Amino acid sequence: MKRLLDRFDHFLIDLDGVVYLGDQPTPCAPETFNALKEAGKRRLFITNDPRHTANDYARKLIRLGIPADPAEFLTSGRAAALYLENEGKTDRPIFVVGSDGLRPEIEAVGGRVLRGREGTAAAVVVVGGHEHFSYQELKIASLAIQRGAAFIATNRDANFPMPDGLWPGTGPIVAAIEVATGVSPVVVGKPEKRIFEIALDLFPPNGRSVIIGDRLDSDILGGQRAGLATILVLSGCTTAAMADRSPIRPDYVIENFSRLTTPPA
Ligand SMILES: [Mg+2]
Repeated sequence: MKRLLDRFDHFLIDLDGVVYLGDQPTPCAPETFNALKEAGKRRLFITNDPRHTANDYARKLIRLGIPADPAEFLTSGRAAALYLENEGKTDRPIFVVGSDGLRPEIEAVGGRVLRGREGTAAAVVVVGGHEHFSYQELKIASLAIQRGAAFIATNRDANFPMPDGLWPGTGPIVAAIEVATGVSPVVVGKPEKRIFEIALDLFPPNGRSVIIGDRLDSDILGGQRAGLATILVLSGCTTAAMADRSPIRPDYVIENFSRLTTPPA
């Protein structure tokens, strides 16, 4: 019998709840994701979190015992930058509402990032959640969008789990700009299919691709929208009961990664 991993060539892998929970690897994650590499599979770790760079994530995985190259990561911030590049928008002035991790992603594709009040002259506004969001940023982004700037959101996740509860994510910041301008953004991250299409462009053509994720309404729904095979792993925020009740049906539901790397008995 085939191992599940033998059915696919290219693996898109969600990070939080799949590879790690906080600062701990999920059970069997190092063995599994190292085995993928040893089997010659292509890996691309994807995350909606736009606050950190690919280098930050590569360092984190190395710390957890999963050697990985920065080129194997696609954050929603990098996806937004690649989206701008694909749309031919990187030669226009860009205002970034986001962390110090997001700005270099936009600059890496040749984007000219405006700072401070100059931002009202931007032709593109890119928004990713960050802890230092201010009224000043809200005002500059809103003025630029009123004057016709394109409005791009890395994602619109409402929140993310932290030890003391759910912290506001990119969604509430996007919503503030949306309410102020009456304009809705182009959203790049999960569950929109754009991040998946951008991810697939980073793989060689004609491989069999699959997403491994822990969220039905994000990883699995987005993967299905992009025409990917889907594997739900119950190591993160979804329980077997939640998966049973959901109208979103992944191709495979696995308790843990042993299903991926060992043939069925
Ligand atoms: Mg996750």
